[in-house]
Amino acid sequence: MPEATAQQVATYKNFIGGEWRDSQGGAFEVRSPANGELLYRAQRSTVEDAHAAIRAAREAFESTEWREDTAVRTAALTKFSDAVRARHQELATQLTRESGKPFPISRGEALRLAETVSYYAGLTRWIFGRSQIPQPNSISMIMREPVGVVAIIVPWNAPLALLARAIAPALAAGNAVIVKPASYTAGSTVELGRIVEGIEEFPKGIVNIVTGPGDPVGAELARHDGVDMVSFTGDTSTGREIMRLASGNLKKVSLELGGKSPTIVFADSNFDRAIRGAINAASFYNAGQICIAGTRVLVEESVHDQFVSRIKDMVPKMKVGPGWEKGVEVGPVISAAQMEKVTGFIEIGKKEARLLVGGQRLTDGDLAKGYFIAPTVFDGMSPDAKIAQEEIFGPVMGITTFKDVDDAIRIANNSRYGLVAAVWTRDINKALKIATRVRAGSVWINTFGKMYQSTEMGGFKQSGLGRQYGLEGLFEYTELKHVNIQIEK
Ligand code: NDP
Repeated sequence: MPEATAQQVATYKNFIGGEWRDSQGGAFEVRSPANGELLYRAQRSTVEDAHAAIRAAREAFESTEWREDTAVRTAALTKFSDAVRARHQELATQLTRESGKPFPISRGEALRLAETVSYYAGLTRWIFGRSQIPQPNSISMIMREPVGVVAIIVPWNAPLALLARAIAPALAAGNAVIVKPASYTAGSTVELGRIVEGIEEFPKGIVNIVTGPGDPVGAELARHDGVDMVSFTGDTSTGREIMRLASGNLKKVSLELGGKSPTIVFADSNFDRAIRGAINAASFYNAGQICIAGTRVLVEESVHDQFVSRIKDMVPKMKVGPGWEKGVEVGPVISAAQMEKVTGFIEIGKKEARLLVGGQRLTDGDLAKGYFIAPTVFDGMSPDAKIAQEEIFGPVMGITTFKDVDDAIRIANNSRYGLVAAVWTRDINKALKIATRVRAGSVWINTFGKMYQSTEMGGFKQSGLGRQYGLEGLFEYTELKHVNIQIEK
């Protein structure tokens, strides 16, 4: 696995019940978004393949000691983490080929997968409940058990890092999982099946990987009664559909969805750091395709002109190109459809605000072969503008000014999303007022994007449901059970 075809292009199979299987649905092609090269094929799975994976996961969950043997789970996850770390260059190379993102970003992502699995390997033995004497001669135990069969549906923008924070706690808690990767980046995820296959502590069927279209494969996993929980990361509208499908058997649902995050820059901030922080937050490094991207930059009126002139100087210098080229800072967007979506928003932005830099697809030389968009910044973005309200998921940042702390909070909260926020100021009172009043799951003060395996993250409002990382991120994948004992007199 994978097998080379006549055209010397690998075809990935599904990993179900510990075996590599073809789908009756044939295979689909995955091409580089940077130059259109055919990279590999993966199974265009059908509903029957989803059913086979559900059966395999159920069988493994019910018939093995996985769910009760913490020593086995710790060993399996530790080996998994070590193997990912040992192969991180290879995984990162694959990720950069299929997503186009800069190689150092891919390498960081592969290592983050290793680190997250290692963190939850440690927590496997930390799944405790509580006990109580609620009345005389009565003892109650509150225990945590795995949920059962968990379907994990991940997007293409950070496929390994986003898979990590679902698969690692789900397995640590003793569940069986079925992973449905995004079609654009299926290969890097299926590669993980080869790692799992080589670890004897994983019973066959505890980890299954099924590729293929979101609908019907992902939809069937979300709908089917044999799945106990669905963990989804992706677009808010898809998340809503997942919730609807999951309601049939009232599955547990964990959703990490879109964002339109504010970066708030006060005049009293360390200005150099704040500007670099705002550019970093906009996530140009991933062509803006990051759920936490700080795409709304709120700048205090008195420093607006200074801020704009620095942005005009810095952003156009960013090197755009295929992620495998040295020095590239901005890769392509993932697909032609994504490029059209993003450039469509840019055209709307040109009418709603003032274009500062970028604003077009890049087609010079070899860039014409891919989906490259110049890092784009708008100024004078009204808080109610379409480009301020919609998740563009491309390299597009908008600048809005504010008068004072209350004004900044009002603008920051003027969004249906609430994933993260960042504030740059040297005044601790201002920073804490923002941190406590902004409706978002994470707030960074004088920094951006710090996510630790031990610190929870997740969305307020339409950015999601449930939390990833940390203990809460582990407990998402457990059920609580009350066992009561009566002591005979
Ligand atoms: P989706 O949210 O649709 O895709 C995420 C994952 O869900 C993929 O594995 C996808 O499979 C799967 N999926 C799609 N439809 C269904 C369904 N009905 N039931 C179950 N699973 C499903 O993102 P898209 O790739 O379609 O991108 C659409 C837009 O979403 C983008 O333009 C972008 O703006 C935004 N987006 C936001 C993300 C975020 O983190 N905030 C992440 C990804 C996208 P498949 O790949 O096979 O379609």
